[in-house]
Amino acid sequence: MLRSIVSISQTANKIVPSTETALPDLADLDRPALEQLFESVGLPRFRARQVFRWIYRMGETDVSRMTNLGAKVQAEISRRFRIGSPILEHQDRSADGTRKFLLRLADGRRIEAVYIPDTPKQTFCISSQVGCAMDCDFCLTGKMGFTCHLTPAEIVGQVRVLAHETGLHDAAFNIVLMGMGEPLHNYDAVMTSLRILADEEGLAVPPRRVTLSTVGVVPAMEKLAREALMPNLAVSLHATTDEQRDRLVPINRKYPLEALIDTCRKFPVKRRNRITFEYVLLAGVNDTPADARRLVRLLGDVKAKVNLLPLNAAPGIPYERPDEATVDRFAQTLAKHGLRVSVRKSRGRDIRAACGQLIVEGKKTAAGPRLAALMAANHE
Ligand code: SF4
Repeated sequence: MLRSIVSISQTANKIVPSTETALPDLADLDRPALEQLFESVGLPRFRARQVFRWIYRMGETDVSRMTNLGAKVQAEISRRFRIGSPILEHQDRSADGTRKFLLRLADGRRIEAVYIPDTPKQTFCISSQVGCAMDCDFCLTGKMGFTCHLTPAEIVGQVRVLAHETGLHDAAFNIVLMGMGEPLHNYDAVMTSLRILADEEGLAVPPRRVTLSTVGVVPAMEKLAREALMPNLAVSLHATTDEQRDRLVPINRKYPLEALIDTCRKFPVKRRNRITFEYVLLAGVNDTPADARRLVRLLGDVKAKVNLLPLNAAPGIPYERPDEATVDRFAQTLAKHGLRVSVRKSRGRDIRAACGQLIVEGKKTAAGPRLAALMAANHE
């Protein structure tokens, strides 16, 4: 059964966007940058820490309610800056507990984020772009094309809104960057977002609770490998030959399988961790026993685990979902050869929040691809 909730005003839940979009957005900055900015305009650094705590620990973006700042400092901050936040416009609930959120940004653009309960942890799947430039052949978001990158305020803002709406603000939750967009195509904003999320003065979500999913932007993966703050890595593989992958995941024409797998091999994975390889199963395309055996060979010397995602078919996507026997046979072939494998249960399909079903259409969202897929996913 599908239930819909509409919530346009968020004053009651303390998320108040500024209409003055020309001012610098404090929510785009990690705490050291915020402290530096305050200092540069003559405000003490400790005021920056107070503001940071209000935004991320208390969920308050209205400066006039930041009671420990004092009227003079409140007025000075409001005159110079704004604090941006996505506005919740619409929410759908799946019978399985998955919730899909349509969020409006300051300029009127819309994005989607998904909450997936009990997987076994609570998981927020968030977007990094409006649309996507990668044009994967089985993905509705890809069909939208690329509109723009999200800012850190818009990326972290999704987490703040979802944490508030789900009552999980003070609980432990996981975050997957698997919604709309290719996170590594928006590298700097995503890394700033990870630093903001991890900050102990704020939401305190450690990198081990964050999974970044990429289709394989190799130079950005190499850069990520050198970062101090390292999320878990998921690679959307989906094919075992360049010929197949060129068609399904066009970025492969630029960074073919050999370069991608070599980068994965060298990626600094923590001792007990593995890179997750996502593999969407498309009936009659990449789901044969020969595909499974090639996948085993391809990942042979990589610290890998494989998540199989039977396609969530959608209008406009020219592929079908394989039957259960085919999915089982594929999974068993991988397991028999020693690969760790899981098959994602599709969740949120009744609200089009399942993998591959997210897409923003005009003023409404119909739900997108990888976001949906993730949402639908059965996270470990
Ligand atoms: S699968 Fe991911 S990277 Fe590919 S088009 Fe869709 S959103 Fe973009």
